[in-house]
Amino acid sequence: MSKCSHCGKRDYPINYGGSSKALMDKYDACFNCGFWFGVVEEKSSHVIVDGVARFACPYVENADKRMLGHGGDVWTFKMHDGEVIKSNNVWHRGDVPDNFKDLLPDNAVIVKEQ
Ligand SMILES: [Zn+2]
Repeated sequence: MSKCSHCGKRDYPINYGGSSKALMDKYDACFNCGFWFGVVEEKSSHVIVDGVARFACPYVENADKRMLGHGGDVWTFKMHDGEVIKSNNVWHRGDVPDNFKDLLPDNAVIVKEQ
């Protein structure tokens, strides 16, 4: 590909596939920006606290904790709109890059972390 239309970087000429490639083509973006555009598309499912994006899946009852994000630790998030989300299946997505902070601002605080 040519330069990423979002950050200006050039990717290594690797043949990306699947959803990564689809996002890169859709946004004319490099792999990294494509990943973050994917997060933007699923923004309503993400919790962003202090610039760190996490995916909080629905609470799983009687689960095998080894199969859950963060080993099944229970996290409670209070969204800026007041909604409280409790999850024992939280997945770390990464630090929101500076050039995505406008699209992915903080939307919650952590109430309790175990
Ligand atoms: Zn990029």
